[in-house]
Amino acid sequence: MKNTTTTETLPAEGGLGDEPLLAIDDLHVEFHTRAGVVRAVNGVSYSLNPGETLAVLGESGSGKSVTAQAIMGILDMPPARIPRGEVRFRGTDLLKLSDEARTQVRGQRISMVFQDALSSLNPVFTVGWQISEMFRVHRGMSKRDSLKKAVELMERVRIPAAKQRVNDYPHQFSGGMRQRIMIAMSIALDPEVLIADEPTTALDVTVQAQIMELLSELQRESNMGMILITHDLGVVADVADKISVMYGGRIVENAPVHDIYRSPAHPYTKGLLESIPRVDLKGQDLYAIKGAPPNLLDMPTGCAFHPRCPYRQDTCVTDVPPLHQISSSRSSACHYWREVIDG
Ligand code: SF4
Repeated sequence: MKNTTTTETLPAEGGLGDEPLLAIDDLHVEFHTRAGVVRAVNGVSYSLNPGETLAVLGESGSGKSVTAQAIMGILDMPPARIPRGEVRFRGTDLLKLSDEARTQVRGQRISMVFQDALSSLNPVFTVGWQISEMFRVHRGMSKRDSLKKAVELMERVRIPAAKQRVNDYPHQFSGGMRQRIMIAMSIALDPEVLIADEPTTALDVTVQAQIMELLSELQRESNMGMILITHDLGVVADVADKISVMYGGRIVENAPVHDIYRSPAHPYTKGLLESIPRVDLKGQDLYAIKGAPPNLLDMPTGCAFHPRCPYRQDTCVTDVPPLHQISSSRSSACHYWREVIDG
């Protein structure tokens, strides 16, 4: 089909001026289900610059992955609906682009690595075929040239004996190696933004560290912006520049990574930090945040965290806390953030 509008509407390339590479602004996502309307994302805002890593942290159901899916444009609509908000990539609101223009951004300029590499890879095609498909489809390369590029990418993500293994099938690789293949596919077209959604959850601890190191290295080489979605505060300390903590579909704390570790300004963040196992406290019981994440169909009144919060006061049950600006780079959605910081 002839396209006359796509090139006019695609985000520009080159310098950014004052605009962040990616800016999510007041994003709302809801799902219309038989049981009612699930408000999965309620007014989320964050931004990302080239070469920066933003870790988005939260339990399952906090809205972190749904936000990422909205950025990628891979939500099933319906049942999903985006009643409000913007996803600006290089100043262009992706939510206003045609499906065709959106497809050109997805995978090429904004790419994603998913948690479960085995179910993301097609079991009946060799990994070389699957990686090289990116170049055949998007760059119009020949079969031979695209396979050569696939080997180069497998070497770049450090898969040993890439030349020999390019003709192997996904089940012939370990979990860590399959995740490397997924990463190879996600960086194949040199994206400007990489979203890694729980990229190490299914892997053992040693392999987790290797995958995180690989992602950081690839990011440094190409100056990509990276959004790292995780439920594990332990994995982000060495790789993230800043953290946004989500709870019940909202951001409850934004801060540079060192501030979060030094003095969290929200009781939920504090609870997550205290839940990280520490080698110097061997033999002690591991702290766990009491209670369960909120039911998005029946959210608590006031602050969504109040049923689990050790700092709770009467106001918390009635008044939704706004995101208080603590400094130019920090904010907390807690009425009593000062007390939390003071310990
Ligand atoms: Fe806890 Fe109240 Fe702060 Fe919510 S607003 S996190 S309930 S102290």
